[in-house]
Amino acid sequence: MKKLVVLTGAGISAESGFATFRDSGGLWETHPVERVATPEGWYQDPDFVNEFYNGLREQLVDAKPNRAHEILAELEKDYDVTVITQNVDDLHERAGSSKVIYLHGELMKACSSRDPQNPFHIVTLDREHLTIEPGTKAGDGSLLRPYIVWFGESVPNIEPAAEEVMQADVFVIVGTSLAVYPAAGLIHYCRRDIPIYLIDPKEVATPSGFNVTVIQDVATKGMARLVEMLKAEG
Ligand code: NAD
Repeated sequence: MKKLVVLTGAGISAESGFATFRDSGGLWETHPVERVATPEGWYQDPDFVNEFYNGLREQLVDAKPNRAHEILAELEKDYDVTVITQNVDDLHERAGSSKVIYLHGELMKACSSRDPQNPFHIVTLDREHLTIEPGTKAGDGSLLRPYIVWFGESVPNIEPAAEEVMQADVFVIVGTSLAVYPAAGLIHYCRRDIPIYLIDPKEVATPSGFNVTVIQDVATKGMARLVEMLKAEG
């Protein structure tokens, strides 16, 4: 089976009603990035940060995977698929994708603010326990925080993600502005001879020297076209 590696960003979840980061609308407008997505913001006002992610979680449980997530899961019939996502939603998994690498954490999890990557203190939230209330403690006594990789923090999963990209026979990029590093640099790990497909309604800049086919469309339509193109190539 050919190995298909897919890098997704906020755009793949846009048609599920989950707002992207740089496009306008949603909670991001009232909650500036520096305050809700940096360690400095957290130290300044942890309650404000938790409130923001509590709100996102409430949106997420009402959102449903869209056709783009589903098509990606269906591709597992014909390909060995790895999804590398910058998204913190769980829509890929809910659509049935079995191998998902989260680069920026998971919205439905919470962790210690002293030692965020310590697996003993990572807890999974659910529909009945969606919010982190002010003052809630993690297992190590520090404040419980969202299990999200913030700007300025290291991205522990970038290495396993790069390993996958190195082995890819086909690489697909969906719904990301490729503005956030190190995720945006993953394309450099592709073998130069493999086909790369980029799906986004807007123009997204990619480095030269790669065999990139642009499908300029929204994720649902773009993924349907991708399947046709992959079939045609055999
Ligand atoms: P981004 O907002 O920088 O870029 C989104 C891209 O999606 C843009 O290029 C835009 O043109 C495209 N897009 C918009 N609607 C689309 C559609 N219907 N179909 C396909 N593409 C569409 O997002 P990013 O590159 O993922 O980086 C932003 C950061 O914000 C990430 O680190 C991510 O963790 C975080 N974030 C996550 C979510 C989520 O989990 N769903 C949502 C918002 C932000």
